[in-house]
Amino acid sequence: MDSPIGGEEYLFKIVLIGDSAVGKSNLLSRFARNEFDTNSKATIGVEFQTQVVEIEGKEVKAQIWDTAGQERFRAVTSAYYRGALGALVVYDITRKGTFDGIKRWLQELDTQNDSSIVRMLVGNKCDLENIREVSIEEGKTLAEAEGMFFIETSALDATNVQTAFEIVIREIYNNMS
Ligand code: GDP
Ligand code: MG
Repeated sequence: MDSPIGGEEYLFKIVLIGDSAVGKSNLLSRFARNEFDTNSKATIGVEFQTQVVEIEGKEVKAQIWDTAGQERFRAVTSAYYRGALGALVVYDITRKGTFDGIKRWLQELDTQNDSSIVRMLVGNKCDLENIREVSIEEGKTLAEAEGMFFIETSALDATNVQTAFEIVIREIYNNMS
């Protein structure tokens, strides 16, 4: 790929999906601004946030899209998915129902995107070990069956948040070259 002099070399669109209140907005604010919001109204009405990551000396711009709460009504539009090269599919390890909901999100992703999209299964809120309802093993097993990456994160204490995004960004990059 040719790179324009002085310009951004790569721009990757990545979408966050998953049931309401699993922590999507907080994963993004932790990654992009190193902030956490205990108020559940963390979605700030911005469509996406951009974060620059350096890979092999190249500047990669990750444009991370967050829902504005429309997942509550199962009304995430095709515009949201359009052009996405990566997806973080998030559940809450303390609510089994959000893990059971993953299948539906994967189906939606399949119908909206071609199969080459890089997908990471994210079990968020791993700081809440005492009220865990989904084991690490269950997460791993589903991810393997679906051919996805898998990670557990905590947007609250920042565990693995950077890593989750970076694995997806690197994989997109590797697939291009
Ligand atoms: P979204 O609806 O998926 O965007 O979820 P939010 O980011 O708005 O988070 C929903 C709720 O879960 C909020 O009250 C957050 O403070 C809380 N939350 C998000 N991530 C974590 C986490 O990693 N650990 C804990 N303990 N709470 C979290
Ligand atoms: Mg949100």
